[in-house]
Amino acid sequence: MREEFKECRHCGSSYRYQSSGMGCDHATNDSRYCPGCMEVINAALAKVPRRFEHRWIEHDATWDWFESRKGEYAKVCRERRAANPNGIFLTPVWPSPLYKEETGELDVNHLIEVDGVGFRRQYWPRNKDGFKIYRHVLVKIATGKVVRGLPL
Ligand SMILES: [Zn+2]
Repeated sequence: MREEFKECRHCGSSYRYQSSGMGCDHATNDSRYCPGCMEVINAALAKVPRRFEHRWIEHDATWDWFESRKGEYAKVCRERRAANPNGIFLTPVWPSPLYKEETGELDVNHLIEVDGVGFRRQYWPRNKDGFKIYRHVLVKIATGKVVRGLPL
């Protein structure tokens, strides 16, 4: 867990902001506004319906397509690291594997980016042939239509 002191952009109060660790996703934990101002902002925004959301939708592609793009993406990651040797560039990983109780398996997820769009291949180790490939997209909620692809 990492915490830092901030000054609220609206009311000017000093407050403690938690930038990582358990609880950092709390609705009033924000890097710009104090918890009191965030309560007011959240209450106001609760009246505004969400119009767009990020989704991972199934994408029709082969294992080989993913493998070839995986190699290209690994090269892009190496180049990004080399271009910024003092910075931090972490290879993206899927944060929440699924657990199958019957077999005691965790699913395997590989992430890549192709032309700025994120793709994920998911499979169970004992059933690689049942793999699925997903594409990261922005969807307009009212129509269910994909607006555009999103990076990882
Ligand atoms: Zn404030």
